[in-house]
Amino acid sequence: MSNADQDGWSRVKGRLRAEVGDDVYSSWFARMDLEAIEEGTVRLSVPTRFLKSWIQSHYAERVLACWQTEQTEVGRIELVVRSAVLRSAIIKPKAEPETSAGDGTRFNNSLGNGRTLSLGDPGAHEALGGSPLDARLTFETFVVGRSNTLAQAAAKQVAAAKRGDAVMFNPLYIHAGVGLGKTHLLQAVTWSGNATGERKVLYLTAEKFMYGFVSALRTQTALAFKEALRGIGVLVIDDLQFLQGKSTQAEFCHTLNALIDAGRQVVIASDRPPSDLESLDDRVRSRLAGGLVVEMGPLGEELRLEILKSRVTAARGHHPTFDVPQPVLGYIAKTVTHNGRDLEGALNRLLAHSKLTGHAVTLEMAEREVRDLIRPQEPKRVKIEDIQRVVARQYNVSRSDLLSSRRTANVVRPRQVAMYLAKTLTLRSLPEIGRRFGGRDHTTVLHAVRKIEGLVGNDMALAEEIEILKRQLQE
Ligand code: ADP
Ligand code: MG
Repeated sequence: MSNADQDGWSRVKGRLRAEVGDDVYSSWFARMDLEAIEEGTVRLSVPTRFLKSWIQSHYAERVLACWQTEQTEVGRIELVVRSAVLRSAIIKPKAEPETSAGDGTRFNNSLGNGRTLSLGDPGAHEALGGSPLDARLTFETFVVGRSNTLAQAAAKQVAAAKRGDAVMFNPLYIHAGVGLGKTHLLQAVTWSGNATGERKVLYLTAEKFMYGFVSALRTQTALAFKEALRGIGVLVIDDLQFLQGKSTQAEFCHTLNALIDAGRQVVIASDRPPSDLESLDDRVRSRLAGGLVVEMGPLGEELRLEILKSRVTAARGHHPTFDVPQPVLGYIAKTVTHNGRDLEGALNRLLAHSKLTGHAVTLEMAEREVRDLIRPQEPKRVKIEDIQRVVARQYNVSRSDLLSSRRTANVVRPRQVAMYLAKTLTLRSLPEIGRRFGGRDHTTVLHAVRKIEGLVGNDMALAEEIEILKRQLQE
């Protein structure tokens, strides 16, 4: 191969990088080499079959176009898998037994019925490492009530689907506040899906996904990781809001697209709707929103009571003398309103107390034991749309004025107030707020926040206006 060819190749790579961006480039093209150019055909090599098929199906035309701008005579790209040392190192099974400690093992065990997953080599398997499952979090123990009927039904549907069935909603995206049953439902899908043996279900926390991927990258088995992911029928990702880091997100995006396009089911839980996952880019967000998005609301009192009852029944399995009289259950259901975790905490205390002292559970004891779990109502989750609506109404402008680029004083001030409220009443970041205010830069938001902060110190009328707005939003 001539030096000119190599130079041309460098320029093509530069073009490619500029077109697809650094993240995508380093995920997919960094290890692509030029092998030869012959009679209008460029032969490029990549280290694995997976990479080859991925590039072929997603980027073939791009790569060709980049070549053609460099050398018009190029008519065809041929991708080959090079048999590098690296590759055999990835594929060769390690001597390590399958039953070694670690999450991979737990994942195997979690399948019940003695079955194990064949996810290719153990290195990749470890990298995939399903997160540990809690045996109690099944559909049987999940209590259905008004706030979670739809989510539960959708989750059941997903768990019961057979290989080859048409995928009804993909991804299934469930969002809810803390302790409202997301993890419970996702693990139920995993248990029940794996029990039928129809499709392999892999449950990963977003952290595991990141850790798996990042460590896979470090140990050079990222491709094995991807390959192994392909053996998964249903990918379940919990707490997606914790997914961080540009390259992880690019990877998540590729994985999501690859799985969905291949007709595999993806199930996701997060504490916020897709539109609020500020660090993900628009395409991922819209892909996430493109399936079924279900919100689970707060647990109502009835549901809390049912959950408590089912918990007591379960606890009596191990502690037959444990009993919680109906009035005590009613009291806890009424007062411990926060979330499912606190309900569990309340019962655990009663159980511990009655075990340790040998006393029966009474209302008086319950009042004492759970006192600190009775919290004042959580402040309502305030939405940016609500802020915009309420502020617009207050200042007699339209919401679209607030989002517009108009700079007249009667719009600028309300807009700043709304941005300020968005920063103080929600957990959204400055860039996210900017995005939600007609695609403004985060520095504009910062400016607005500082401006209003400065003003409320001196301007009593404004301070009061803002107090009123806050109260309206939080009631
Ligand atoms: P999240 O993941 O949404 O923060 P979890 O799924 O961890 O919440 O739920 C917190 C606790 O509340 C768990 O012990 C869970 O079993 C219980 N819980 C929540 N919702 C339900 C429900 N509908 N039925 C039974 N238990 C529930
Ligand atoms: Mg959870």
